[in-house]
Amino acid sequence: MAIANDIKQLHADMRQWRRHLHQFPETAFEETETARFIADKLTSFGLDIHLGLGKTGIVAALSAGNSDHKIALRADMDALFIQEQNTYTYKSRHDGIMHACGHDGHSAMLLGAAKYLADNRNFNGTVYFIFQPAEEGRAGARQMIVDGLFEKFPADCVFGMHNFPDIPSGHFAVKPGAMMASFDCFEITITGQATHAAMPHLGNDAIVASAQLINALQTIVSRTINPADPAVVSITQIHAGNTWNAIPESVMLRGTFRCFSSTVQTTIANKITQLVNSICGGFDVSADIRFNPENAGYPVTFNTEAETAIALKAAQAVAGEDCVNQQPIPSMGSEDFAFMLQKKPGCYIWIGNGSSENSCLLHNPHYDFNDEILPVGAAYWVKLVEMKLV
Ligand SMILES: [Zn+2]
Ligand SMILES: [Zn+2]
Repeated sequence: MAIANDIKQLHADMRQWRRHLHQFPETAFEETETARFIADKLTSFGLDIHLGLGKTGIVAALSAGNSDHKIALRADMDALFIQEQNTYTYKSRHDGIMHACGHDGHSAMLLGAAKYLADNRNFNGTVYFIFQPAEEGRAGARQMIVDGLFEKFPADCVFGMHNFPDIPSGHFAVKPGAMMASFDCFEITITGQATHAAMPHLGNDAIVASAQLINALQTIVSRTINPADPAVVSITQIHAGNTWNAIPESVMLRGTFRCFSSTVQTTIANKITQLVNSICGGFDVSADIRFNPENAGYPVTFNTEAETAIALKAAQAVAGEDCVNQQPIPSMGSEDFAFMLQKKPGCYIWIGNGSSENSCLLHNPHYDFNDEILPVGAAYWVKLVEMKLV
């Protein structure tokens, strides 16, 4: 592993920052103390900081040389509503909230890279360090973009990194194309006519219609989508009725679908609409469909070729060629860095957090970011900057 001594020497600092953030986790758009901690560190490194994009988001800029090339590096800051079950001294002090996705580590690694690059400045151009809020389901990346992220900080390209259990500690995995799935929610309200359960012929049964619909929705993946295109459609909630002997007026269904291309995404949404309208029409019940009612949808996280090639080189330079998996299986999970990749070419890479036997899976109440990979991740950021801004 080729990591500069100056980065190795930041290991203790990064561990301390990471464990501080772990003790004081904050959830989406509430990361005020987290942002203050990060902003203070960036200022102490001598960087110019900009606050308030996406409410709690931070962007720091660092320039060297005379090139007008600009690269953006992104970390996320938010935690989850999960009660931590770890018992170590730096466990969460905020009841019901924990860093179970390793964003504490992402912030610490990017801070480490900022410190090293500010001290050494062996690159030619400008680096934007993006610390974003609300990755977990609230689309903080989109909010920063809406607030003018790329107008104020016009990066040529943008890079993201996520720790991943079950990839060996300090190894990487990256490939061009889709890395993570799109994520959409839908809510269907079916309204019929309530009636006595003994006299169904006097009403229009929304429950029977919803049962047919649920089965029909399962044919979208099996009969409409090309089997070579992975996709999932799941109904996750059914709400109807409150007694034994009355057929209720309405049923509400909620669900989600995920896939790896915007074409498939559109096809699934259209097919849901078609099946809802045709089946409900056949049962004489009306239906209302809302997609992403809480603005929840995320696009596909899609890596561009040229930026992935340089990310791969940087990862190989840090971890060694044998320690970078170039054919990872994309994840059906989703990631709001996808919004940044819709605006700019770029690459999202996974860094191994080590076996899940030791570190368990993301969003688990026992999860912990592996402090041993902090210098590896920081070194990747530094190498990427040095290779891209020459
Ligand atoms: Zn997560
Ligand atoms: Zn995450």
